Amino acid sequence: MSDKFASIDVTPSKRQANRNKHNILNNFNNNRESSSMTMEGDSKCKDRPSGSKVQVQPTILSSLRSVLFVIGTVVIAFAAFCNSLTWHLQRFWGASGDFWQAQWDKILDTVGDDPITLWVYGSLVLTFVVYWLFGGIYTILDITNRPVALRRYKIQPGTNEPVDTKDLLKVIGQVLFNQIAIGLPVIYLSYHLMQWRGYAPVRELPTFHWVLAEIAIHILFEEIGFYYSHRLLHSRYLYKYIHKQHHQWTAPIAVTALYCHPLEHIGSNLLPPFLGVFIVGSHVATAWIWFSLAILSTLNAHSGYHLPFFPSPEAHDFHHLKFNQCFGVLGVLDRLHGTDTLFRNSRACSRHVMMLSLVPIREVFPEEVKYNKSK
Ligand SMILES: [Zn+2]
Ligand SMILES: [Zn+2]
Repeated sequence: MSDKFASIDVTPSKRQANRNKHNILNNFNNNRESSSMTMEGDSKCKDRPSGSKVQVQPTILSSLRSVLFVIGTVVIAFAAFCNSLTWHLQRFWGASGDFWQAQWDKILDTVGDDPITLWVYGSLVLTFVVYWLFGGIYTILDITNRPVALRRYKIQPGTNEPVDTKDLLKVIGQVLFNQIAIGLPVIYLSYHLMQWRGYAPVRELPTFHWVLAEIAIHILFEEIGFYYSHRLLHSRYLYKYIHKQHHQWTAPIAVTALYCHPLEHIGSNLLPPFLGVFIVGSHVATAWIWFSLAILSTLNAHSGYHLPFFPSPEAHDFHHLKFNQCFGVLGVLDRLHGTDTLFRNSRACSRHVMMLSLVPIREVFPEEVKYNKSK
């Protein structure tokens, strides 16, 4: 597909330039229409294939309309999802001889059902293992620069290829400090808040529908908590003294996800995911599923790789590159507040889709259009 972009000539004349632009747009649209490789449309993007720098400022009304559209779509999709797929899954969940409940009972019979063990140490160990297991895999890619085929999926090619050992060790040290020295007391405090608030009994697992519903709530509250705390961190003094550390990485790697000042770790990494858990009084198992998903999400967002079949990490990577764009996780609040205008005019926005084929997104939406009349 990139060949199509490379086969158009440029001339100084305005007429020819317009014709070329038209061709490029046609090619661009044809590529999009004929391609079934991406999961989301990119109509949200104002990106011009010819590299136009025209920016479109969204009005409050258009932002609101977009947000309502997104929320409406999510609600309808969720309802449809509940009525179809979950019905089958619920059957599997419940009808397989309470399989999951039996597994959970085995775990509790082994580690005990002391709430402090489960909520505090269980949560700490689980989040630690998930972070370093999956973050470790990404780190091996970053250190070895192998497999070579994965280089094509780099969002910012040429960065951290390979990653600097000294910088990496600094990241590992800070993340370990945040996870243990900061994380343990905060989790302990969170447990006491949960105890005060009340939570689902640990022995009995919630239903599958309920787990899904709670995770949807957790995602919502995390988006709100993360967006606003993150924007606050970009205020003059908080940025200078706290958030700048996280932004030392303009091309992040997975394990930089929790590389930040301890205060940022509390306010922006630990509190937003805990908000929903606290508000609905989640079961500890639901909380564990949610914390694991949140960690996998942030590792992917910082990974520097836009891999096929993975959610797009383009928006947060763009945030690290440009600093004042894309503060949220889902992008809904960025749209509402207009903090994604530059992003929506960028090539990164066109690439902000889940790839459903092995073709690297940079080859579907190349950086620059090269012109060549001979082709
Ligand atoms: Zn980040
Ligand atoms: Zn930031």
